[in-house]
Amino acid sequence: MEGKQIASRNESWFATPLQAGSVPVNARVLIDGPSELVFDYAIPAGLDVRAGCRVRIPLRRKSATGTVLSTGEPEQADFALRELESLIDPEPLITPVLLRTAEWIANYYGSSIESVIRSVLPEGVRSEENSAKTRRVAVLDSSPDSAVLVKLEKRAPRQFAILSLLSHAPDLRLPVADLGEGNAAALKAMEKAGLLRLEAEEVRRDPDGDQVEEILESKPLSLNLGQTAALEVVLAAIAEPKAHKPILLLGVTGSGKTEVYLQAAQCALNLGKTVLVLVPEISLTPQTVRRFKSRFASMQDQVAVLHSNLSQGERFDEWHRIRKGIARIVIGARSAVFAPLPDLGLILVDEEHENTYKQENVPRYHGRDVAVLRAAFEPCAIVLGSATPSLESWNNTLTEKYQLLRLNERADGASMPLVRVVDMRLEQAKHKGAPAILSDKLRTALEQRLEKGEQSILFLNRRGFARSLQCNACGHVCQCPHCAVALTYHRTDERLVCHVCGHQSIVPRKCPECRDPGILLQGYGTQKVEEIMTKVFPSAKFARIDADAMRRKNALRDTLAAFKAHKIDILIGTQMIAKGLHFPNVTLVGILNADLGLHVPDFRAGERTFQLITQVAGRAGRGELEGEVIVQTFTPHSPSIQYARKHDFDGFSEQEMEFRREYSFPPYAHCAVLTSRSTHERRAEFTLQTLHLRLAENLPNGITLGEVLPSPLIRSHGQFRFQITLRSHQARPLTRHVQAVLSKTPLPEDVIVVFDMDALNFS
Ligand code: ADP
Ligand code: ZN
Repeated sequence: MEGKQIASRNESWFATPLQAGSVPVNARVLIDGPSELVFDYAIPAGLDVRAGCRVRIPLRRKSATGTVLSTGEPEQADFALRELESLIDPEPLITPVLLRTAEWIANYYGSSIESVIRSVLPEGVRSEENSAKTRRVAVLDSSPDSAVLVKLEKRAPRQFAILSLLSHAPDLRLPVADLGEGNAAALKAMEKAGLLRLEAEEVRRDPDGDQVEEILESKPLSLNLGQTAALEVVLAAIAEPKAHKPILLLGVTGSGKTEVYLQAAQCALNLGKTVLVLVPEISLTPQTVRRFKSRFASMQDQVAVLHSNLSQGERFDEWHRIRKGIARIVIGARSAVFAPLPDLGLILVDEEHENTYKQENVPRYHGRDVAVLRAAFEPCAIVLGSATPSLESWNNTLTEKYQLLRLNERADGASMPLVRVVDMRLEQAKHKGAPAILSDKLRTALEQRLEKGEQSILFLNRRGFARSLQCNACGHVCQCPHCAVALTYHRTDERLVCHVCGHQSIVPRKCPECRDPGILLQGYGTQKVEEIMTKVFPSAKFARIDADAMRRKNALRDTLAAFKAHKIDILIGTQMIAKGLHFPNVTLVGILNADLGLHVPDFRAGERTFQLITQVAGRAGRGELEGEVIVQTFTPHSPSIQYARKHDFDGFSEQEMEFRREYSFPPYAHCAVLTSRSTHERRAEFTLQTLHLRLAENLPNGITLGEVLPSPLIRSHGQFRFQITLRSHQARPLTRHVQAVLSKTPLPEDVIVVFDMDALNFS
């Protein structure tokens, strides 16, 4: 007979809690596989089944595997439950804190438990095919007797050779593979004669095994006053996490945040605790990762770096090294937030404002926010660091949910780089016709660097996903009168659409502001920039960093190494080079089209532009030499550009928060997107309209329901996409309402509907 199926998984996820001292008799199990079955099973006597355990269970006439979500007393069942078969691992693979975190994610983001558990326990770990890799080793219990050796030398030269090798090996043990081929029979005979033992030994599949680069240990720097004060607060939080709020460390680029992280991590380790370091993306933050590796070089096997390109075997090994407390510092991108570290003392989230912390497929969680939750559940200290914090985190300091710590000066004594803004409207007028890419000012500055043997970075803001209209003469951008975001140009029906509220207007022939007919769509890529630059500076050495150029394995690492070794004069790149890079010889950074990102139809456009310019500018003048930044823009007076120019986060956030409050955007409301997509355009649209009707019925107070609109990127991967934007002051009622409607509305087979809570991507 089948176990009882639990219909509404999110409501009663945990079975009845246990009375103190009683033994659980009932386990609620999430069955592996896509169909999200949750069944209750009876626990056979004597089996130590706990929440988070992996188990084997009977399912219909077969045997299946699953994860125990909870254990408890039997529910009032009118039939007997089937017994589960066995435990796959003796210990729970998911800690109670991570189970609780998983439950929170499922509820908050409206994701299925199955999808969350899949993230918590990655495929490489839960699949039974993966297991620890072992090798056979030959072991001597003590050094061999010389009499035995003499006897063997004559009678059995092969055995003699093996024994002499072993007697000189460290710990008197060697892998069988290292003893040479054709020794199987000799080894067997020796084992039988009691001369040696053969045993299995676990080997670690070391992801860095082929690393050639040597890591030199770095010593802690003596901290300046600001750093010392910051470290003190972090240490107090590590010692007494319950008495402390999450910490937002707002420090200008180069203010020595990383040094504070390193010393805080060291202290947590000294206290016998473990440390989790989250970075936006491993491959784009090689220098941050290296700094952690160097500082903890003497305990290198205690550092685990979770790359996205680990093999399943490597992932399995790293995961178990972490869980057993062997790896005590874990560095990874957002999914590392689920690393099963025991005794977690400190979580560091570097560049907390980065969008890459948000997962763009199911479950659509935000790594930073989950980290904050996990820290509260553990409890442990958590530090979010950035030179340009997200307004969400900033607002949390204003409402005193987070504690704010600041570092206002560069740590190595360097001054903040000088930022000049070049008005490209004037450049455009000078070079009638061709789109202006390189201003005279930037060209001169580049020439000077080449003469002096200094290096430069040219940064190209990647085109947004959507097209907006901007006048090349006056810089005017067509905006929605209701939402103040850029209107999106839809070529098919020649209209401008606001994707937030649905406002539509016709495409103007002349600029509504200055009457110039030059209001047109423009754009160019890094390749084009490189082409032009090579013509202007034929003797300079260039390299390009963008998704195209970096497709080859290790291309990024090699290019950065070549740049560091000054084999490249000018580095041209996209957003990819904005993060955590540190080159002492770079004295000039040029931002070619600073405002392009301003005109995407996204209320965060200004925030992103401010962050980008500040971060990119932070790459200049990080050594002894003074840095200069040249920002080319068609909208020189836009606040994001003006505040970034003065490195003024406070000024920027103040005016930006006002705009957010006025239009009820985050952080003053939660913003979610419901998207439908299908190869069949009408069905995608119709499905979303049906959902819109149902969402509008009994709409809870405080939720604003937007219209059904084509997505800015209406066609992608051959599918048509439509979306609804929803806003709400409280998160839970919004997720609950959408979930309730979704669960009651049957969808056509060829339409996929996706709900994205706290969405960062509106394409
Ligand atoms: P951030 O992480 O805030 O961008 P970093 O930690 O990278 O800043 O520090 C910038 C530079 O200043 C680095 O070269 C670092 O070695 C140096 N630095 C950091 N702290 C100190 C200090 N206390 N004394 C001297 N130099 C420091
Ligand atoms: Zn609008």
